[in-house]
Amino acid sequence: TQAAPRYAWLNGKIVPWDDCVLHGRTQGAFWGANVFEGIRAYRCSQDRQLHVFRLDDHLARLGRSMKSVRMDIAYSVAELHEACLELVRANEFQEEVHLCVVAYFGMGRNFDPLSHTGETGVHITAVPMPRSEGYRTGVAACVSSWRRISDDTMPPRIKAGANYQNSRLAHQEAVRNGFDTTLILNQWGRIAEAPGANVIMVRDRKLVTPPGTSGVLEGITLDSVLRLAQDEVGLTIEKRDIDRTEAYVADELFLCGTLAEILPVVTLDRLVIGTGVPGPITRHLQHLYERAVRAAGVDYRDWVTTISVR
Ligand code: PMP
Repeated sequence: TQAAPRYAWLNGKIVPWDDCVLHGRTQGAFWGANVFEGIRAYRCSQDRQLHVFRLDDHLARLGRSMKSVRMDIAYSVAELHEACLELVRANEFQEEVHLCVVAYFGMGRNFDPLSHTGETGVHITAVPMPRSEGYRTGVAACVSSWRRISDDTMPPRIKAGANYQNSRLAHQEAVRNGFDTTLILNQWGRIAEAPGANVIMVRDRKLVTPPGTSGVLEGITLDSVLRLAQDEVGLTIEKRDIDRTEAYVADELFLCGTLAEILPVVTLDRLVIGTGVPGPITRHLQHLYERAVRAAGVDYRDWVTTISVR
């Protein structure tokens, strides 16, 4: 287990890591009544600075999540932006980091977890985050026996903490059964997404991904990858339903997300996808994404916020 970072950020202040605590009776802690963002900062090999990837796009999505659950917080986007940078600087990270910004509901009237409360707060943590092991080799996935939450029960398009009970159930079942990850079908039996990443299939040099109405998060990595694929490689994008068996016969299949980055899926339900190794389009997109997040290419500089570290 790795050592905890020195500092966290809680309601306007940098605090010692161990002081970033909520009361167990807050709605955020008790029923998972929160919305959040997961954000990554990469180190550029040339200037050694840390670059936060699409910080303001993540904070904009946090705003959409807050709107959907009717939450107001005391901090502006500019203040949260600055808080993220301040926290990373304070911790003097040598490694690449993952930031988690959480906006939560407090105690509520008479401690009632169903009551609407204007008492809200925000905490931010940042921890070192190495790249996942499967990035080079690819991962083994199964189709989950759990269905993805649907917009008429819990809104999958936003990042609400409570949504992740669905992700946990699916992920842990997959791992218990000997897989690395899983694809979760939506209420119509079509492929939605992985527990923490969107899905893209390659067929006949086209990138296919489920539409935004199919029970998926509005992924920022997905948006980045689709833009790179269109602008840099000239690939056609199709947003349409994907059947389970169409994924079986895909040329290439990969996940994309802040943590997953671009993660090749080389088997699905023990069937070999493509040639059983990460495919050429997946590899090419990994390379382009890598350049973009490390601010190595000029064209996507507006995607990164540079933190000057001493
Ligand atoms: N779907 C789910 C369920 C996720 O948790 C994530 C990770 N945030 C994604 C997709 C990918 O989103 P992003 O690229 O914005 O991290």
